[in-house]
Amino acid sequence: MKGKRGLIMGVANDHSIAWGIAQKLAEHGAELAFTYQGEALGRRVTPLAESLGSNFIVPCDVEDIESVDQLFAEIEKRWGSLDFVVHAIGFSDKSQLKGSYVDVTTRENFTRTMVISCFSFTEISKRAAQLMPNGGSILTLTYGGSVRVMPNYNVMGVAKAALEASMRYIASDLGPRNIRVNAISAGPVRTLAGAGIADARSMFSFQKDHSPLRKNVLIEEIGGSALYLLSDLSNGVTGETHYVDAGYNIISMPHPDEVKT
Ligand code: NAD
Repeated sequence: MKGKRGLIMGVANDHSIAWGIAQKLAEHGAELAFTYQGEALGRRVTPLAESLGSNFIVPCDVEDIESVDQLFAEIEKRWGSLDFVVHAIGFSDKSQLKGSYVDVTTRENFTRTMVISCFSFTEISKRAAQLMPNGGSILTLTYGGSVRVMPNYNVMGVAKAALEASMRYIASDLGPRNIRVNAISAGPVRTLAGAGIADARSMFSFQKDHSPLRKNVLIEEIGGSALYLLSDLSNGVTGETHYVDAGYNIISMPHPDEVKT
C-alpha cells in the first residue's frame, strides 16, 4: 500500500472494525486520513490516528451533508486525490433493534437509519470518485442480517440489504473509471454499534458455536480481507459482498449433535 492514500470513516474506539482495517493498512504502508463523529469521539480517534502516523483527522457527521462536502474539500486541498475509502458507518435507534420488526419500526427511524447506514455510502462514493482520476477502491461494511433474518437486527437488516444493492449499482457506475466498490459482510464483533442490538451476546455465542471455524472473527481478520479488497491484489474484483464471518453464512442448520435440547 506504499504510496496509496485513503480515508477511514467509522473509527469510534480501538474496538471498531474501521480501526482493525486502519491498522492493517498502515502496517502495509498506506497513508491515512480519519473522520470522527462529534467532539467526544474526536478525543478518542485523535490519539489512535496519531499512533499510525496520521495528523489528518477531520470531523464528519453524514447526516449533515455540509460536513461531508467540507471533508472532501479538505482532502482535495491537502492530497489532491484519493486511492481508497473505507465506509464503516451504521446507526439506528437502539430501542427499535429489539422485538418484532413489523411492530417496532417507525417511519422516522426507518428513514434516519437508511440515510446514515445506506445512503451515506452513495453520497461518499460520489464525492470520493471525483478525487480518483486514476481509479481506486471503495469498501463498505455489512452484516448477514441483510439476507437472512437475525432476531432483533430489524431495520438494520433492511438497511444493509439496501446498502449491498447500492454497492452493486455504484460498482457498475464507477467500473468504467477503474473504481472498484465492494462490501465486507463481517461476523458479529463486540463494538459500540454491535452492543446496540438486543441480546447481541447470544448472537455472538451462537455464531461462534455454529460457524465452520468455531470462532468469532477478530477486527484484525476483517482488516486482512479489507487490505486485499483495497489493494491491487483484488484488481479483478468489484461489486462483491465478501463474507468474513468464520463461514457462518454457509450453514443452513447446526449439526443435530450440536443442537442443545
Ligand atoms: P462502531 O460503533 O465502532 O462504529 C460505528 C461508527 O459509525 C462509529 O464510528 C460512529 O461514529 C459512526 N457513525 C454513526 N452515525 C454516524 C453519522 N451520522 N456520521 C458519521 N459517523 C457515524 O461499530 P462497528 O461495529 O465497528 O461498525 C462499523 C460498521 O460495521 C457498521 O456499518 C456496522 O453496521 C458494520 N458491522 C458491524 C458488525 C458488528 O458485529 N459489530 C458486523 C457486521 C457489520
